[in-house]
Amino acid sequence: MFALTEAEIEALKQASEYALRFRQSLPDRPIPPRMRLDGALELFRQPLNEDPVPPDQVIAELIRNADPGINALPSGKFFGYVIGGSMPVGVAADHIVSAWGQNAGSNYETPAITGIERAVGDWALDLLQLPAESGFGIVTGATVANYQGIMSARHMLLKNQNWDVEADGMFGAPPIPVLAGADAHGAPLAGVRYAGFGSKNIVRVETDDQGRMLPDALAAELEKCAFPPLVILQAGQINTGACDPFEELIPLVHAKKGWVHVDGAFGLWLNAVPQLRDRIKGVEQADSWAVDLHKWLSAPFDAALSIVADKAALIAAMSAWGAYLPQTSDLWEPSDTAIELSRRARGVPAYAIFKSLGKNGVRDLILRHVRFAERLVELLSNEPGLQVMNHVVSNQVAVACGEGETGDAQTLKVLGEVQQRGRVYPSHGEWHGRAIIRCSICSSGTDESDIELLADEILTVWRDVREQQE
Ligand SMILES: *Cc1c(COP(=O)(O)O)cnc(C)c1O
Repeated sequence: MFALTEAEIEALKQASEYALRFRQSLPDRPIPPRMRLDGALELFRQPLNEDPVPPDQVIAELIRNADPGINALPSGKFFGYVIGGSMPVGVAADHIVSAWGQNAGSNYETPAITGIERAVGDWALDLLQLPAESGFGIVTGATVANYQGIMSARHMLLKNQNWDVEADGMFGAPPIPVLAGADAHGAPLAGVRYAGFGSKNIVRVETDDQGRMLPDALAAELEKCAFPPLVILQAGQINTGACDPFEELIPLVHAKKGWVHVDGAFGLWLNAVPQLRDRIKGVEQADSWAVDLHKWLSAPFDAALSIVADKAALIAAMSAWGAYLPQTSDLWEPSDTAIELSRRARGVPAYAIFKSLGKNGVRDLILRHVRFAERLVELLSNEPGLQVMNHVVSNQVAVACGEGETGDAQTLKVLGEVQQRGRVYPSHGEWHGRAIIRCSICSSGTDESDIELLADEILTVWRDVREQQE
């Protein structure tokens, strides 16, 4: 076998040195990329060279060319979407994941990885207060985790009607009603489509002004269900951060012998914090859950957990080898509970983060962000013409400017200007007919001064825009 060449050693060194420099530059780096897609396409989409280029030159060029088009997503001043900020200890572990080159799909070939990832699952179940015997798979994101929960539901609800969906497929299968809240995220709805239920067949259940499903509305819809339904609930609405009232909703579904899946991409982490648990009460009674590791836990992209209380249902639905009697020992294969066979050891960075924080550190992280969200509301709420559109229960703050259509235009103007100034970066959204500035407090790197800066930027620009109006 070839030993590493000088140029390869140089390439590996350059990469880790640059990675460190990049992370150190984050506090002062303007957030939005300086290069746009057209520039990037022009720069990179060149004819492929006929002849080899030395590895150190490839890496040096890659860094030089890409850097202007890199978004400071991991900055503590990035408040857009729901982005976790990739905690440095997780990034360090991720370097090793690449170097190890393990295919995490097989416990036989890569036992250390399977051991590490089992610990991640156990620790998450414990922190999130979910049933300890649940099955789990480490997947790329909550989109896939939602899909896997829905596939597990599909398996079990059809099995209960004596239909073997893995063998016989969906054509001719008994109907399964599918219900989701009017303010559900698009990801689980896509999962419903992938699972073959058809998007038109999703019944949308009425929600309140925070996006929470109304128990009476669910009860009325359940009355109409001729068969046990799949009901998709949500912990953490992307605009308001609100959680469905699980304690009231889940027993209604179970009384109908239905399955409850919870999209808890970020919000499920509320359950890790004793002081916050009353905001997500009863979530542990569900049948399956999706939760990201790369959002609120701040693991580097990409990682999430697909959790199913009935492990056999998860294996029957997702195992690459088709439905079979699940092994009861610890020797089950990672590919039994995740859609991928070959894959990166994506649980390892989360392991490092859990270890580094400990249980109390995880709880502190979540609680700190909730307190920051409350602080942001405090800083914005006395400003004439600014309106916080949600009750803050987690880490999302939805801000609208002015009134009506003029107000929406002002909101977009303020948002665009704040983004362009590049000191902080909230993102856009729409809530109950109003354009909003969505501030998502999700990065492990965020501290109190970043929150003050965010408020300051919004207030400064808003005052400008308001004066122009007058
Ligand atoms: C982000 C998000 C998803 C999708 O998760 P990915 O990790 O992007 O695949 C689903 N639901 C909610 C509520 C989310 O915030």
